[in-house]
Amino acid sequence: MKNTPYSLTIDGKRVFCAETAPALNPATEQPICNVPLASREHLEQAVAAARAALPGWANSAIAERQFRVSRLGDLIEQNQEAFIDLLITEQGKSRAGAQWEIGGSIHWLREIAKQSLEEQVSSQGDVEVVTRHVPIGVIGAITPWNFPLLLAVWKIAPALVTGNTMVLKPSPHTPLCTLWFGELAQQVLPPGVLNVLSGGNELGQWITEHPAIGKISFTGSTATGRHVMQSAAVNLKRLTLELGGNDPAIVLPDVDAKAIAKDLFWAAFANSAQFCVACKRLYVHEDVYQDVARELTAYAKNVKVGNGIEADTQLGPLQNRMQFEKVSQLLEASQAAGLTFLLGGKPIQQPGYFIPITLVDNPPEDSRVVAEEAFGPVLPLLKYRDIDEVIARANDTPYGLAATVWGKDIVKAEQVARRIEAGTVWINQAHVFAPDIAFGGHKHSGLGIENSLHGLAEYCNVQTIMRKVLP
Ligand code: NAD
Repeated sequence: MKNTPYSLTIDGKRVFCAETAPALNPATEQPICNVPLASREHLEQAVAAARAALPGWANSAIAERQFRVSRLGDLIEQNQEAFIDLLITEQGKSRAGAQWEIGGSIHWLREIAKQSLEEQVSSQGDVEVVTRHVPIGVIGAITPWNFPLLLAVWKIAPALVTGNTMVLKPSPHTPLCTLWFGELAQQVLPPGVLNVLSGGNELGQWITEHPAIGKISFTGSTATGRHVMQSAAVNLKRLTLELGGNDPAIVLPDVDAKAIAKDLFWAAFANSAQFCVACKRLYVHEDVYQDVARELTAYAKNVKVGNGIEADTQLGPLQNRMQFEKVSQLLEASQAAGLTFLLGGKPIQQPGYFIPITLVDNPPEDSRVVAEEAFGPVLPLLKYRDIDEVIARANDTPYGLAATVWGKDIVKAEQVARRIEAGTVWINQAHVFAPDIAFGGHKHSGLGIENSLHGLAEYCNVQTIMRKVLP
């Protein structure tokens, strides 16, 4: 693992701070190291560096930018095992989870580096119309703690390929992989193109208010997303907001419960359910409810929860105390409301932010465990009878991030999928992402798209040039 102290990266240089805060390992609550806390002055320096780097970077050939972004993937690959260990230690996830995230970060950098937005030329009488995509300028990127490096890469790669420069702020809970990546990136990027600052939530607020930043790309909660949108209004910043969700899964009556139990489990519990697109409400047709409940419980009982650094751990702790307390309170409220648990239900008494895998048996639709995004391993199973009724229940949420439908009859499953108000609907699978597949939320789950050429276009202004040749 990296053993030098962590620093900010500003204008290609490592910068140390007078103020620091400890980073904690969520599986042990033991300190890992100290993390620099950037001041307003550091932000000013980073924005000035990003502005100074902009003309050179924006006007460089796209092939040059693509090459350098792809090289960023090589830098992670050269340190892959160390990144995996660091991610397990700071985030708490299992080794398989960390391998998925670090491998994904390499893959995304390389694949987004192959993307480009071609100029289009059309004729209108004797006028030629050129439509091109130009960079916005300095991008402020703000990321959460569930997939710290991958979600940063989802922003860095398209922003840099399209010619923007960036000031990036990781979550105060998981800054280490991102800080290290920022440091390494200076081997292949010109100074000032990618600046990385760690700090508290106030640093995020300063970034969103900064008049020299042209766009905010934010991933985090819906509540914070609202603040971001308000602050960004100061200079009409462009926005991409990837926010929270309360994703439904709908299990149709023709499923084989045993055959889908494993996939259903991971749809809900991957990354200890700290997943924006985790299945958070499992609607099961009454004909198969008992079978699904039995098979899911049987599968869940054999999943090993523990410190991700241990080889057999499949699910780690929650990432931080705040989240642990939030989910613990949800469990207490569910106990107090007299809900029935198929599994789990009480916090585990041991160091670390561990919550047991919890399955709640058919709670009322208006209970907190159904209405709220738990962002922890607590899943309500809900019985339904009629397809119109369950679609109405699935859509009865301010969120619209993703959903899943499970059924053998693929035509019926797709008919259901098309009626769900969500940015992504997976059929008989979950959490399938790719650099060329558009991802974004409907309703309160966000604004704009990440990944695919739609995602690339989010980092650009469109410019129209109309040429008319003089006689
Ligand atoms: P959060 O909103 O608390 O924090 C996200 C980031 O915003 C952090 O870096 C934080 O420091 C920063 N921040 C906090 N206050 C700010 C402010 N006023 N202005 C600007 N920045 C500020 O979210 P979190 O708890 O880190 O992440 C969990 C949430 O993220 C969940 O709701 C989850 O569903 C969502 N999420 C969404 C996606 C997606 O793609 N839609 C992906 C992952 C997580």
